[in-house]
Amino acid sequence: MNIDKNHIWHPYAKIPNKVPTYHVDSADGVYLSLKNGNRVIDGMSSWWSMIHGYNNSFINNAMKKQIDSVSHVMFGGLTHQPAIELCEKLIKITPQGLDKVFFADSGSVSVEVSLKMALQYWQNNGQKNKTHFVTPRGGYHGDTFGAMSVCDPKKGMHHLFNSVLAKNYFVTQPKTGNTVQALADFEKRLETSHSKIAAMILEPIVQGAGGMNIYDPKYLKGVRSLCDKFDVLLIVDEIATGFGRTGELFGCNHANISPDILCIGKALTGGYMTMAAAITNSKISDTVGVLMHGPTFMANPLSCSAANASIELLLKSNWQKRIGDIQSQLINELEPLKDEKSVYDVRVIGAIGVVELKEPLDMQISQEQLINCGVWLRPYGKLLYTMPPFIINDKELSKITYAMKEVVINQ
Ligand SMILES: *Cc1c(COP(=O)(O)O)cnc(C)c1O
Repeated sequence: MNIDKNHIWHPYAKIPNKVPTYHVDSADGVYLSLKNGNRVIDGMSSWWSMIHGYNNSFINNAMKKQIDSVSHVMFGGLTHQPAIELCEKLIKITPQGLDKVFFADSGSVSVEVSLKMALQYWQNNGQKNKTHFVTPRGGYHGDTFGAMSVCDPKKGMHHLFNSVLAKNYFVTQPKTGNTVQALADFEKRLETSHSKIAAMILEPIVQGAGGMNIYDPKYLKGVRSLCDKFDVLLIVDEIATGFGRTGELFGCNHANISPDILCIGKALTGGYMTMAAAITNSKISDTVGVLMHGPTFMANPLSCSAANASIELLLKSNWQKRIGDIQSQLINELEPLKDEKSVYDVRVIGAIGVVELKEPLDMQISQEQLINCGVWLRPYGKLLYTMPPFIINDKELSKITYAMKEVVINQ
């Protein structure tokens, strides 16, 4: 009897699972040790999150210390030092004006909270028709109902639920080279519908799970000023891009803008614990007033202690130089793949390297090829991509790009 295959639901999978799962025994640094004896480099950082690698002694010790003090306590009516410390840190590092922090337990939940904040802001502001959202096509914001309603409606994975999802507005996807067009389309939408729109929500600079699309900071800057012009709030989803991944601490920093609400998650705890946050400014919080949301595990002290340790590690490292070096190496080693006939495009920003193929990959076959090269990546559709832990060294990163090349040339 295979419990994993026949009884456990894996992400975006069915039971029984038709693709193999690899059993992880332990993990250290950038390496995953598999039960089948393989040791592979995690080029995914466990979905953008393990920026300092696995089994990091600094984060381990911070959490062990916290366990001996208090592991969890309800946040209704009670508070604790790890949450206060984390709040202070987040105010300091996030864009200007963002200083009201709502701790959530996953990225999707932080998106739900940000949508609720925006809706409640306009309700309390007397503009009761502002009940819709606008978002660029090709986005991904999570798997819960509010989040699904702002994911790409066609290419996204949630089209099955379209009939019950809230109806929102979708505008042209920004891509390198179409900034002016994409902004014009957004402006046209606002001209006709701004009185019904509570907020624009988007991923800054890089659209992640919706297609690994990199766009020009000018689009983000333009969106900020159009939102101001038409009285529409701006929600920026930095769940994937936050904490240095794109070469700036936050994607917003590329355009030097500040959103009305910022969502963070994934790398917040260095990948150790599930935690996210929706952070806003006093203009919003003053008008919102009481927010009817309160997860059971809100601001879990163990998660806060992991986040505090992870942020401290990041800030005291020379992360900007390291990400710059990773970016140069990814460019040097992946760009030549543009000449392969199976390759449609190669895109790199910060510690993100993407190869888009002309045809979808066979996930199972390419996964086996990658494992044989000593690398863990998770190709999806036409996309083969890496976002390695920041602690990866040059040789290990070369192993990843070599493995990607092997997959590409054996298409
Ligand atoms: C992963 C992700 C989410 C959802 O976060 P979960 O923790 O999986 O709920 C939302 N937005 C973006 C941009 C993401 O990358």
